[in-house]
Amino acid sequence: MNNLRHAYLYWQPVGHLSGCRRPAWDVQTFSLEHSSGVSELGMRAVCWGCGTVHDLTTRITPDTDLDANAPGIDTGVEGMRSEAHQRLTATWVTGYGQPAIKAAGLWLHPGPAVLRRPATTPDPVGYFVTTTPDIPRTAADIAGVISRSRGARGGVVWSAGVSYDPPTATRHGLPSRGAAARWIAATIAAQTARP
Ligand SMILES: [Zn+2]
Repeated sequence: MNNLRHAYLYWQPVGHLSGCRRPAWDVQTFSLEHSSGVSELGMRAVCWGCGTVHDLTTRITPDTDLDANAPGIDTGVEGMRSEAHQRLTATWVTGYGQPAIKAAGLWLHPGPAVLRRPATTPDPVGYFVTTTPDIPRTAADIAGVISRSRGARGGVVWSAGVSYDPPTATRHGLPSRGAAARWIAATIAAQTARP
């Protein structure tokens, strides 16, 4: 009867924060196989209303790559081990699940955040840029990338790239996120106008 128990008794509903105005889950899966032989499987549930994120990832590693003391569970397949990670977090941490920001006629989709000390508002490390409001799902959807870093004097500086992996043009040391968006928009316009 263990299967019947497992069908009902061990599961918990994924909860929303109180006051969530749009309690609906955006559920996604991913599967990646690296050339090293490591494979990753994941599932996440994201609420765009209250910003709750649940994710669960499993990493399957050839035994030879694994430290003998590293945590892992025998997969039952000889020479392979798996590690699972579960996380309850928020969209301001993960990036995905926050609305895009419109700038210079482009849409900026936030990436994961870095927390600054003393803690103020968390700052995304960067943005994927698209020319339409649609969420980028493949590399071909990405018109550019904006990333933030620290300049020589410790201030925030911005970098921009047009296209993705690889970029067709890049610019570093821009003074603001808006300036980075404007540079991408101008560069796309110039590339489009080129005969
Ligand atoms: Zn919610």
